[in-house]
Order: sequence, then C-alpha cells, then structure tokens
Amino acid sequence: MFGTIMHGPGDVRFEQVEDLKILKPTDAIIKLSVTCVCGSDLWPYRGLQPNEGPAHMGHEYCGLLLTPLPRSDRMKGKRQSVRGDQTGGQ
Ligand SMILES: [Zn+2]
Repeated sequence: MFGTIMHGPGDVRFEQVEDLKILKPTDAIIKLSVTCVCGSDLWPYRGLQPNEGPAHMGHEYCGLLLTPLPRSDRMKGKRQSVRGDQTGGQ
C-alpha cells in the first residue's frame, strides 16, 4: 500500500509502506475515501516542532471499514469517520 510520509521539515513523500496488520482486538482497517493534512502536521513540516523520523500524515479521515470491530460486525462495509485522537497514526 501507499502512504503519505513526512521525513523531515518540508520533506513529504507519497511512497510504498508496509501493509497494515491487525495487532490488537481494538484495531480496524479502513479504506480511505478522503483525508486531509491537519494543522498539527504543519508545525513539524515547517520545522517549528521536532520531527521524530518518518511519520504517517493525515490522521483525520473518512472511509469504509474493511475489518469488523470486536463489538459490532454490523459496521463492516459502512462508512466511518475518525477523529485524530482515535488513530494510531497509520
Ligand atoms: Zn489533527
């Protein structure tokens, strides 16, 4: 799969990354329909905040849930929106 990765100030690349894996029962895989760059990404992009190495960008998005959530199979295949504080950054 591809991801948008910030390597350092002003250095953002759309590149091949490792496929996602379900590691915990609370993990889910969502096929993104739309996403954006958050204002919090602009600080390290501009070099005004430390960048701790390559990091995924775009932590607020909408898409289709591809894996069932542990508490509800009903949501699989439905559209989801995710807040930045609910993601693991990938
Ligand atoms: Zn955000």
